Amino acid sequence: MTKGLTCPLCSSAGPSRYLTCTDYLVSMESFDLYKCPQCGFVFTHNPPAEEDSGRYYDSPEYISHDDKAGGFVNMIYLQARKIMLARKKQLVEKNTGISGGSILDIGCGTGWFAGTMKKAGWKVTGIEPNGKAGDFASAHAGIDVLHPSAISELPGENFDCITMWHVLEHFNNPVNYIFEIKRLLKPGGLCIAALPNCISYDAMHYGKDWAAWDVPRHLWHFTPATFRIFAEKAGFIIRNTVPLPLDVFYISALSEKNRRSLMPFVKGMIKALVFSLKSLCDKEKNSSLIYFLETKD
Ligand SMILES: [Zn+2]
Repeated sequence: MTKGLTCPLCSSAGPSRYLTCTDYLVSMESFDLYKCPQCGFVFTHNPPAEEDSGRYYDSPEYISHDDKAGGFVNMIYLQARKIMLARKKQLVEKNTGISGGSILDIGCGTGWFAGTMKKAGWKVTGIEPNGKAGDFASAHAGIDVLHPSAISELPGENFDCITMWHVLEHFNNPVNYIFEIKRLLKPGGLCIAALPNCISYDAMHYGKDWAAWDVPRHLWHFTPATFRIFAEKAGFIIRNTVPLPLDVFYISALSEKNRRSLMPFVKGMIKALVFSLKSLCDKEKNSSLIYFLETKD
């Protein structure tokens, strides 16, 4: 137990060390994960200061894959991306019940999802802290991309849908964002958040080597139960939860690589298939989940 430390989610005293993980992607530095004894929330303890965090994103893995690059793994990646973009668009339209509304994509990166929505007739705005990625997104997807600091200047009740695909876990203070999201949504609007699930079968199997801990880039490590607490705190209810089925393959291959396994890709694929089959019986053990949130009132 660290003296004076309280849980960032429920404010209870007494979070203690849960795991020590390595940043395999960039720095090879170690970071501790702490867990709250009260609500079970897991968070990265003592992460780098926000102004210093940029250097931990300095990896080609965080830059978009080149469409023209060859190689078997890249080919699979591009195919998987195509499937996921179509699936995400379908999820937005099915769950909002509209097509061609207004959408804000927070953490739009290089703009592949934003571009897909624009092509489908949506009015799209992106938010992206990385200038290079944001410039690429506006150039190829033809969307407006704003810096996160501009979010508070957007007029209220402006969007039918706000999406965050694997973004919230990166924020130093996601609570501020969730209140902004509430302000920006039109009445009856929908917020969609995809997050890694740290009680998934793959997370339990790989322990400290689970690639989706992704310290120190991931700061908040949610489970369905802790995300529910987070959402309700901000005045949202979770209407629906669905798995993101392909993430487990990518995460398992990367976790095998972290473990320095022989043939990490093959091993990861086989294990991911087992985790996928098992999670068919228990949705809340999927590697990644998509939450559909609507405001309480
Ligand atoms: Zn707690």
